[in-house]
Amino acid sequence: MDSVSFPYDAPVSQTLFDRASLVTPGGVNSPVRAFRAVGGTPRFMVSGTGPYLTDADGREYVDLVCSWGPMILGHSHPAVLEAVQAAVSRGTSFGTPGEGEVALAEEIVARVEPVEQVRLVSSGTEATMSAIRLARGFTGRPKVIKFAGCYHGHVDALLAAAGSGVATFGLPDTPGVTGAQAGDTIVLPYNDLEAVHAAFHANAGQIACVITEASPGNMGVVPPRPGFNEGLKAACAQNGALYISDEVMTGFRTSKAGWYGVDGVAPDLMTFGKVMGGGFPAAAFGGRRDVMAHLAPAGPVYQAGTLSGNPVATAAGLAQLRLLDDAAYEKVNAVSSEIQALVTEALSKEGVAHRLQTASNMFSVFFTATEVRDYEDAKKQEAFRFNAFFHSMLSQGVYLPPSAFESWFVSTAHDERAVERIAAALPAAARAAAEATA
Ligand code: PLP
Repeated sequence: MDSVSFPYDAPVSQTLFDRASLVTPGGVNSPVRAFRAVGGTPRFMVSGTGPYLTDADGREYVDLVCSWGPMILGHSHPAVLEAVQAAVSRGTSFGTPGEGEVALAEEIVARVEPVEQVRLVSSGTEATMSAIRLARGFTGRPKVIKFAGCYHGHVDALLAAAGSGVATFGLPDTPGVTGAQAGDTIVLPYNDLEAVHAAFHANAGQIACVITEASPGNMGVVPPRPGFNEGLKAACAQNGALYISDEVMTGFRTSKAGWYGVDGVAPDLMTFGKVMGGGFPAAAFGGRRDVMAHLAPAGPVYQAGTLSGNPVATAAGLAQLRLLDDAAYEKVNAVSSEIQALVTEALSKEGVAHRLQTASNMFSVFFTATEVRDYEDAKKQEAFRFNAFFHSMLSQGVYLPPSAFESWFVSTAHDERAVERIAAALPAAARAAAEATA
């Protein structure tokens, strides 16, 4: 961190951050926004249009975060805004069923074959929490397998990590999560099917489900090795457990049908968020009809939400999904490839060891020479180089995720002008990465 210089300050953002820090822990409502990993002043954004964000100091950035994935059509897309404005004009929340939520559920069911029924919620965290409760209720079993480096929101039972080793019982990863809450969570290394088989063997008849990111993006982009998701599905089927694919990040981003559309491995349950909300708080979980039938009021597993299926959020999500046709994905994939190539070229020119890893149009750069297959590999990268790279890009008007362990996101709105601005910023950023010291 010491080697990173902050090329310019951001006085209005700093003033807002000072105010925020008095009334909000750490000055932010979600930790990674605070720039703690990279240092410096978090930028307070005031508006977004297409591929650009404008901060409180009046500076414009090419946005490669896209609200952590949702804004796949770019900011302020006219059709999404129009749908939102029309919905708002009819009222903002009724606490009753409404047609918008039926239409959004139909759209999800139509796109993702394994989803026969879906329940709408307000965040990805709620979706994974509810899917796990349902899996436990359906199977009558307590334990859950998750993978180190996979993030499923801040669900108590899923905020467990453990050292390496097979079938390690989860230890709470944060104060406030008790041993009892984490004790039924088994944390395994990602991409390690042998560890999964051993865990099933050691916990015979105890495992309700395996939950995995369909293709992880929360330790940087670390796609499943060929056969890994198939292996998980088979292990679950053999052992009477449910296979839950968390597509909160990949869903409706990596293809029309999310990662399922890429690898075709049909899960028992899936979770969604981000893109399906069109920039509003909307998320979902769904899957096999016989499993979903256990959910209240059809079945005994309780789950509810005052704002679930909110009419404004569902209108935004539906408008966004309806615009996401084959041509839209071709566009996002193409611009993503273009940016990936520019990043690799710039870093290679400066002799910076790096791995660019992709999952469809999601990608991230690891500052390491070797392939990253799991969380342990990811942690070996020289993150200090990323910090220098990040600040150089920021100072030149390109907004990257403020952490070396996150996916970068692009949108259909990232046009030639935006790509040119990224290309112009990369040489200096690559030099900064090359010159950085730990
Ligand atoms: N699952 C995955 C794969 C995610 O990437 C996230 C958030 O980044 C979540 C779940 C939690 O979603 P939310 O932040 O909407 O609670």
